[in-house]
Amino acid sequence: MEKRINRLDEIIANKIAAGEVVDRPASVIKELVENSIDAKSDKITVEIKNAGKSYIRISDNGTGIHPDDVEVAFERHATSKIRKVEDLSSILSLGFRGEALASIAAVSQLELITKSKDHNVGRKVVVHGGKLISNDEVGAPGGTTILVKNLFYNVPARFEFMKSNGSETSYIIDIVSKLALAYPNISFRLINNNKVVFVTNGNGDIVNNIASIYGKDIAKNLINVEEKIDNITVKGFLCKPSVTRGNKKLQTFFVNQRYIKSKTVSDAVSDAYKTLITINRHAICFVYVEMNPNLIDINIHPAKTEIRFKDDENVKKGISYVLKKGLFSKSLIPNIREEE
Ligand code: ADP
Ligand code: MG
Repeated sequence: MEKRINRLDEIIANKIAAGEVVDRPASVIKELVENSIDAKSDKITVEIKNAGKSYIRISDNGTGIHPDDVEVAFERHATSKIRKVEDLSSILSLGFRGEALASIAAVSQLELITKSKDHNVGRKVVVHGGKLISNDEVGAPGGTTILVKNLFYNVPARFEFMKSNGSETSYIIDIVSKLALAYPNISFRLINNNKVVFVTNGNGDIVNNIASIYGKDIAKNLINVEEKIDNITVKGFLCKPSVTRGNKKLQTFFVNQRYIKSKTVSDAVSDAYKTLITINRHAICFVYVEMNPNLIDINIHPAKTEIRFKDDENVKKGISYVLKKGLFSKSLIPNIREEE
C-alpha cells in the first residue's frame, strides 16, 4: 500500500521548526532578549545556570502582553509586529516571524509571567513541551519574565548536540554582549550561576559599555569617528592599530541596531586598517551602520544574523572611507608616536 500523506499536528510541527530557530541556549537567549527589546524595555536581566541548559531566566520592564494574548503568543506565526506582506520591506522590530516563543516552548518547560501597563494584574502561563499546562492570574510587576527550564529535555538529539558548559556559556556571554552594545540605552545585567558577568548602565555611552563588557584596556584605546555618506551613517569605535588580536572576534558590526555578520563590513574594516597593521593580526573595532531598511535584505536566514546589502560595493567603499578617516585623523598620530 502507498503511504498516505497526513498533516503533522501542531506540537510535532513546532518541535521540528524549533530546530531552525533555537539550536542552543544562546539562541534561546537571543530570541527572548530581542523580544524584550521589541517590547521597549530599558532594563533587561539575563540569568543562567548550568550554561543555560537547565535554567534561563529573562526579565524585562517592557510593555508586557495583553492577558487575552498570552496563549496566542505561543502559536507559530503569531506576532504583533507585522500584519501584511508590505510590512516585510520596512521591518524595524527585531522579531517578525512569530516563531520564537512557539519554538522555545516546544522544546523546554517554560513559564511566562507578564503584566501590561494597562492591567492591574498579570498572567502566568506554563507550557511544557508545547502543551499548555496552566494559565492563571498572578500579581506581577510591569513587564515580562520568561523562565526556560530543561532545554531540549524532549529532543534527545538536540540535547546531545549541546557543547560543554564552558563553550555554551561563552556563546551566551558573546550574544548578550552584542545585544548590550547594540542597545546602549538599555541597561543589561548578565548573571551566570549567581555571579554577575557584567552590567551596563543604559546611559547610551557606547565607550562606557565597551569598558563594562570588554574591559578598560580596550575602551581607553578607541578612536571615535562618525560620518554620513551617501545616506549611510557610519559610526566607528576603532581600536588603535597598536592594539590588535590574532582573530577577528572583536570586530563587531551593527546595522540599524542589529548585530550582524557581514563579509562586506569585514572587508571594509580590513581595507581601512590595511596599511596600519601587520599581516595575521586583526583590528578590534565596533562599527555601527544606519541606513534605510529598504536597502537591506534581512529575511535571508532564520537567525537573522546575516544580511544582504542591495548595493554591496558602495556600502563597502563608504564604510571603509569613514573608518580610514578616523584612523588617519590627526589625533591618532601623536598617540602612535607616543607608543614607539
Ligand atoms: P515575534 O518576536 O517574531 O513577533 P515571538 O514568538 O518571539 O514572535 O513572540 C510572539 C509575540 O509575543 C510577540 O509578537 C509579542 O507580541 C509577544 N511577546 C513575546 N515576548 C514579549 C516580551 N518580552 N514583552 C512583550 N511582548 C512579548
Ligand atoms: Mg521574537
